[in-house]
Amino acid sequence: MATDLRLPTDKIVRPDKDRFLDEENPFEAMMSRFDRAAELLDLEPGLYKVLRHPEKQIIVSIPVLMDNGEVEVFEGIRVLYNTSRGPAKGGIRFDMAVTLEEVKALAAWMTWKCAVVNLPFGGAKGGVVCDPTKLSIGELERLTRRYTAGIIQTLGPDSDVPAPDVNTNERVMAWVMDTYSMRAGHTVTAVVTGKPIEMGGSLGRREATGRGCMIVTKQALNHLGLNIKGATVAVQGFGNVGSVAADLLTKEGAKVVAISDKTGGYHNPAGIDIAGAIKHVREKRSLEGLKGATPITNEELLQLEVDVLVPAALENVITSKNAAKVRAKVICEGANGPTTAGADSILDEKGIFVIPDILANAGGVTVSYFEWVQDRGGYFWTEETVNQRLTEIMVRSFEDVLKLSKQHKVNMRTAAYMLSISRVATVHRLRGIYA
Ligand code: NAD
Repeated sequence: MATDLRLPTDKIVRPDKDRFLDEENPFEAMMSRFDRAAELLDLEPGLYKVLRHPEKQIIVSIPVLMDNGEVEVFEGIRVLYNTSRGPAKGGIRFDMAVTLEEVKALAAWMTWKCAVVNLPFGGAKGGVVCDPTKLSIGELERLTRRYTAGIIQTLGPDSDVPAPDVNTNERVMAWVMDTYSMRAGHTVTAVVTGKPIEMGGSLGRREATGRGCMIVTKQALNHLGLNIKGATVAVQGFGNVGSVAADLLTKEGAKVVAISDKTGGYHNPAGIDIAGAIKHVREKRSLEGLKGATPITNEELLQLEVDVLVPAALENVITSKNAAKVRAKVICEGANGPTTAGADSILDEKGIFVIPDILANAGGVTVSYFEWVQDRGGYFWTEETVNQRLTEIMVRSFEDVLKLSKQHKVNMRTAAYMLSISRVATVHRLRGIYA
């Protein structure tokens, strides 16, 4: 018999729909969407409480021998939010702004993101409070290894699989993998993803997030009866996600009319030479001085009349203050949390079709999953196979979310949360709560 998780109705905790939301707080923003989806799903109160709490929070002190011979102590965090569907998956960031609250929010986010694309993973996140620009390579390596040693009990291909995040990269992942392998006594490539190709990384991983954005944008345009050929696009952020999305959308026949980075934006209604812009950034490290386009501000870029807007830089760029001025037909959220909860209803009223971050940028974690699968199988796929399987998952996930959004007459974001929460909840119900 299935476990009955229902509590007497007077004990039911229901989110207060009108409670004050701090627009700038990503945890609040994410949890307010979680609450709305949980309410629509009529989630049992017990499960609601379980899913609102992280499973495990680890805080470690990391002593590091600095180059000057002194010992410095850093704080490291790892949060496993939910592992009911499989090993925890989530990046490690090195940043002064790392806090337990933020890591918890990002770990929850990973849980919903993995579930929306139906990967057999839970969600996690980790970080070390440090300024990596002030550390030498040797210090960075010792910090990475000692942090890894501090959380080694939870790490493992079957339990917790990190990846790169803010200020960490392939090289850091290689150190994590090596430290873990030294303890295990043999090489364990599947303990992290985002590794160098030479040591178990996956082809196509670097482009995966931008490719995923391109795939779901095509699906959205198709759903709206718009043609990708000639569709106009503005992309905010020209880093890994934004530049790949712009490049692949151009290759699909779209016309990217504006791009930007932290130095400002560039607009050309006749279309920007994306290959030229990528070359410019490779040589000059930013878009500054890009020829063949008119300089505009990042704020102006968000307000351009285009078919598709791809915010692929920062969180909180579309807010209750500027949402009314957005004139795109489709927003594809390449970045995490670019739209605040306060902006959602304004975009809805304007009839703008938003592909939410947990779906739009899930291409990266999907190819991380492929990397983990390839490492475990010891058999590596061609880039073509990676891209084809990524396409299948992104198309299927888009369709799953769209179907739910039509069925419940809700926007794509609420539908994406409903889908992921119901997937996690189903596994909890099947497994039963060990309470
Ligand atoms: P990146 O560092 O490669 O690029 C970031 C870009 O944003 C750069 O062009 C930078 O100049 C620009 N930028 C920074 N501040 C800006 C500002 N104030 N205004 C306009 N542009 C600004 O980072 P990325 O890997 O492309 O990630 C971008 C976003 O996508 C982040 O939110 C990240 O969390 C999210 N994301 C990335 C991946 C991935 O696989 N890389 C996966 C999922 C989500």
